[in-house]
Amino acid sequence: MAKYVYFFSAGKSDGDGSMKNLLGGKGANLADMCKLGLPVPPGFTITTEACAEYYKLGKEKLFKTIESEVKTQLDRLQQETGKSFGKGPNPLLVSVRSGAAASMPGMMDTVLNLGLNTETVKAMIDLTKNERFVLDAYRRFIQMFGDVVMGVPHHDYEHALDSVKKARGKKLDNELTVEDLKEVIAKYKELYKKVTKKNFPEDPMEQLWAGINAVFGSWNNPRAIKYRELNDIRGLLGTAVNVQSMVFGNAGNDSATGVCFTRDPSTGENRYFYGEYLINAQGEDVVAGIRTPQQITTAGSKEWAKNHGVAEVDRKKNFPSLEEAMPQCFKELDAIRKKLETHYKDMQDMEFTIEKGKLYMLQTRNGKRTAAAAIRIAADLLKEKLIDEKTALKRVEPKMLDQLLHPIFDTKAEKAATQLAKGLPASPGAATGRVVFSADDAEAWAAKGEKVILVRIETSPEDIGGMNVARGILTARGGMTSHAAVVARGMGKCCVAGCGDLAIDYKAKKFVARGVTVKEGDWISLNGSTGVVYKDQIKTVEASLAGPFKTIMDLANKYRKLQVRTNADTPKDTAVAVKFGAEGIGLCRTEHMFFEGDRIVSFRRLILVAEDVKRLRKDLELAEGDEKKKLEAELAPKLKQYNQALKALLPLQRKDFTGIFKELKGRPCTIRLLDPPLHEFLPQDDKGQKEMAKTMGVEPAVVKRVVEDLHEFNPMLGHRGCRLGITYPEVTEMQVRAIVEAAIAVPGSKPEIMIPLIGNIKEFEDQKAIALRVIDEVKKAKKVAKLDISIGTMIEVPRAAMTADEIAKEAEFFSFGTNDLTQMGCGFSRDDAGKFLKDYVSKGIYDYDPFEVLDQAGVGRLMQYAIEYGKKTRPNIKLGICGEHGGEPTTVKFCSKIGLTYVSCSPYRVPIAILAAAQAAIEG
Ligand code: PEP
Ligand code: MG
Repeated sequence: MAKYVYFFSAGKSDGDGSMKNLLGGKGANLADMCKLGLPVPPGFTITTEACAEYYKLGKEKLFKTIESEVKTQLDRLQQETGKSFGKGPNPLLVSVRSGAAASMPGMMDTVLNLGLNTETVKAMIDLTKNERFVLDAYRRFIQMFGDVVMGVPHHDYEHALDSVKKARGKKLDNELTVEDLKEVIAKYKELYKKVTKKNFPEDPMEQLWAGINAVFGSWNNPRAIKYRELNDIRGLLGTAVNVQSMVFGNAGNDSATGVCFTRDPSTGENRYFYGEYLINAQGEDVVAGIRTPQQITTAGSKEWAKNHGVAEVDRKKNFPSLEEAMPQCFKELDAIRKKLETHYKDMQDMEFTIEKGKLYMLQTRNGKRTAAAAIRIAADLLKEKLIDEKTALKRVEPKMLDQLLHPIFDTKAEKAATQLAKGLPASPGAATGRVVFSADDAEAWAAKGEKVILVRIETSPEDIGGMNVARGILTARGGMTSHAAVVARGMGKCCVAGCGDLAIDYKAKKFVARGVTVKEGDWISLNGSTGVVYKDQIKTVEASLAGPFKTIMDLANKYRKLQVRTNADTPKDTAVAVKFGAEGIGLCRTEHMFFEGDRIVSFRRLILVAEDVKRLRKDLELAEGDEKKKLEAELAPKLKQYNQALKALLPLQRKDFTGIFKELKGRPCTIRLLDPPLHEFLPQDDKGQKEMAKTMGVEPAVVKRVVEDLHEFNPMLGHRGCRLGITYPEVTEMQVRAIVEAAIAVPGSKPEIMIPLIGNIKEFEDQKAIALRVIDEVKKAKKVAKLDISIGTMIEVPRAAMTADEIAKEAEFFSFGTNDLTQMGCGFSRDDAGKFLKDYVSKGIYDYDPFEVLDQAGVGRLMQYAIEYGKKTRPNIKLGICGEHGGEPTTVKFCSKIGLTYVSCSPYRVPIAILAAAQAAIEG
């Protein structure tokens, strides 16, 4: 029979750190810490397999299955602690906590102080001689149990508590006396009965089973589901349940509780032991952000005081460090920090409690960190020889790099900006956006394309959706380990937390900071690295790419086998990409060049007559005599306009290519000939058509007629790609001429002419012949003997993939256009499928949106087929990908596996692709 319950206690544990899938991260590491001989309050873990059975068999059957195991381990726990569950004189109280294999902070349920009832409360009072403490623990338990386990509304409890405080003239919870607490407890019990129609349970076993039930049930609460969705956590069995004997950080002034990190989770620095704690408090008080947490080290405390304008005397008296307040415990904790980091070889995020001067470890896990911290920690651990190069590379999630590459505030602009307030630098980066005061508003505004900053008194797990869409997060309360700070760091989002200068009024949708009122919709800016909040928008600049970033990128370049290119069509984008490490251009979309400035005018002149030129040429093929003359006369002026437009476009295109080649300094450049349907270059609305007509010197009706002529029901399957070049060969000619002339102007250039949307070898032959002729003409005209130019195609039509052996006879390279290959391979319109693909993903029909993450099983298979058959005719064929998937880490790994030469992606994703390529090479 399967074992469902695992015991842990200092020096002895049934499980260990390798059992994360079964015991969850928390359970496995508790077992591990026990094995390392660290002071951990003993307890037991009910496995994630039990959670899976809970959902499969139902609660009753599962509980029957595990009942005797739970009882056995509970007996063991009573023996180990010398305490009894639900009885005096020394009652055992436990915490019941969730813990899945992947950390999901705050998403699932927790119940503390479980085991308190009338009898144990009395026994605890006798034992501790501290009635106030025991009653406070009891009222917290009733509240947590009622709220989490039985669904008694949280605010009803808050309301009951407030009513007692008000009646007795008390402001803070800790001012409540024994008598006050007794009244709160009575009110809480009354409320519990009113809502649940039952008395608050006295039987500790009933409490325990209800707690276990709540934790298992919380695995599938909406916010946990949403969290897993956002963080791409898949394939887990469920959550484990950790039942652990309670220790109390609120047992007096010789008790404390805190959260700490072996290195700074924001920056990755290791200047001092980083963390926060509170004297005489329970863990939830640190996270809830009601009191100002204090620093672990004196160095950290002094820095904090400086940043917050707290004088040294005040700091020492009211906010001493743990190092100052409890030096012995600090020493022990500091030694544990070193032991744990050496053991796990990674930055740890630890929770501890000090009960009457004795330190206990409640949790350790690999700490969530910002991208900046991730690369610094990986580089530093490598330098410290704790990890090797390959491990360092695997420690940084490629997607995270995105955070580092985005701009930060321009120093001058930031200096000139008006400071509104200062809070804690909870998650670095810069954010500018319009203020909203609720997560729902954030989602609604963002859906309309607004950049928003979510401003909250404090955030809670319900706010996750709004936090996800916000550019930045600002909270009035909470420390560096508050919910807002932890979640924002995980998301790589700029966050300023605990900004006490803000007086937020949710009702009026405004806040006041240092006398300035900011209303919903007003612009503010946050610097998550300094904690400063500014009025208005601030200009941003590119991020720096030195230091640990360079260390990791250099390493990635050392290990990767796949080349990385960029999709760029301006010299500026090219320069950015080259700076990020791009080894060339994998896709230069020439049509973007036609939109800029005056060029659109020339191009529109061409389009205006293009259809007529095509028709007249066709008619002329059959015409004779007068008819022929008439048609020739009709064609002449149109052809003149057509050719003049091309003539005007040629030098502009040449200049574009020259600029790009200069930036590339001899790196290869795949240039795609014109691809989109012509109607995309014309205004579709009346006003635009009138303006165009005026510029062109024609009647608006003429423009309208051309727009109508070009209309297609299915433009994506219509007159685009090489089909344009086949109808209008002069456009191909002009583009090739511009490319060749630019290549001659910039010696060493390596253009690769790419013909789009090929489905049939004959299309390719047609266009290739034109290109070869023009190359020859230019070479002769410029007296150049040799040029490094190749001609290849995109594989984006399934027919091209299936006839790749044929196409490879003529094409020197393939570049997979996976945007169109997905569109045509899956039969999903690129423009419209967004409407239903979300449902497809949530129902698991596709694991991901196939336009974001390559559908390896389908579209990937087409690619594999094309590679296999293409290589049959041309074994050394150059193979790349230039669809949006080229910068998506799992796709990059797939491309490495199937033997592509390179991936190509937008400039800002180049480092992501480089790192993913290195990881692919390491993972093999
Ligand atoms: C593609 O189809 O993947 C591609 C790169 O071309 P575009 O997105 O321009 O159609
Ligand atoms: Mg395409």
